[in-house]
Amino acid sequence: VTTDIQQLLLSRVHDIPDFPKPGVLFKDLNPLFADAAAFAAVLDHIASRWEGKVDMVGGIEARGFIVGTPLAQRMGVGFLPVRKAGKLPGETISQTYDLEYGTATVEVAKDACRGKRVLLVDDVLATGGTASATAQLLQRAGAEVAGLEFLLEVAFLQGRALLADHEISVVAQA
Ligand code: AMP
Repeated sequence: VTTDIQQLLLSRVHDIPDFPKPGVLFKDLNPLFADAAAFAAVLDHIASRWEGKVDMVGGIEARGFIVGTPLAQRMGVGFLPVRKAGKLPGETISQTYDLEYGTATVEVAKDACRGKRVLLVDDVLATGGTASATAQLLQRAGAEVAGLEFLLEVAFLQGRALLADHEISVVAQA
């Protein structure tokens, strides 16, 4: 069964074939972000799921910022920016992970989430590489990863397999 909130979200996803490269079906969530009422309904749905269970919301640069900041505000908790390498001032902790070609690095400020229960959010769960590296990063930074939440899961890529140690929730699957 598809719930109302899943239908609403899926109606505001735009599929873009062959972006950013041939063979990739890009899931564009900008139509959701552009619709204030639909975006608010999705955020309320996520907030009610995690209410009382988290001390901070961590968002992965860049689209995790779009989702995570209004979510944190709704839940009355702080927002933790997880950034790409070299963007944060001061002392940082970083985690490098493999991409199809090359590597990428995520970073957080050194003492920003120590002892906190963090909900990690991003727009799309694809291979899970970014989310899994970020979860490791937060644990090394002294946080407890309370869970991970994504607006959309590209199920055939099986990103969940990399995140088996964590509680994962997605609003809808594609
Ligand atoms: P992942 O493969 O799970 O590490 O995905 C890396 C990042 O790229 C995530 O932050 C996703 O938001 C984004 N991403 C990966 N695949 C797609 C896709 N097909 N459509 C939209 N965003 C994607």
